[in-house]
Amino acid sequence: MLPIPIKKFIELFSELPSIGPRQATRLAFHLIASGKNTIQEIERSLSDIKNLKNCEQCFFIATAPSNLCFFCADSKRRKDLIAIVEKPTDLLSLEKTRTFNGQYFILGDLAKAGVLETAQRLRIKNLASRMEKEFPDKNAEIIIAISPTTFGDFTAQLITQEFKPLVKKITRLGRGIPTGGEIEFADEETLRNALERRN
Ligand SMILES: [Zn+2]
Repeated sequence: MLPIPIKKFIELFSELPSIGPRQATRLAFHLIASGKNTIQEIERSLSDIKNLKNCEQCFFIATAPSNLCFFCADSKRRKDLIAIVEKPTDLLSLEKTRTFNGQYFILGDLAKAGVLETAQRLRIKNLASRMEKEFPDKNAEIIIAISPTTFGDFTAQLITQEFKPLVKKITRLGRGIPTGGEIEFADEETLRNALERRN
């Protein structure tokens, strides 16, 4: 019934977060109706994000031509305070509170299966050796800003074990965020409170 290009479009876009087949179909017809200029602009935007690279320190998006992101490159931010988050969108939610003035570290999406991927374990190990080198006096602080889900709790335990011998303080952000709730969707006030009253 549908031409192949539209079918292909729906197939691809249905795979994206928050978009199901119905939304993808609606989107396809909306774009066709919007005309060539709009579609070309979207093509250009896709091509631009294709070339972005991760920050070599925290895995957020680096600000070209630097290998670092906006946050890691900012000399006014504290280096001895690191919030470990799951996703870039969690970072943005925390940043919006304007309460946090440290560095971030992105772990990558936690799989629902309950096992950390090798790449994620490696990220944690690399951060640990960096902390060991940069803070031989162990005077840094780690904030675990991972959503209080079952697997989030498991990951938090793992991080605590890894960093306990290396830093002076490890806190978990979570108070005020309902169990099973997600940091990404918590409102600013809740997150600000969770940051200020972390334990
Ligand atoms: Zn960075």
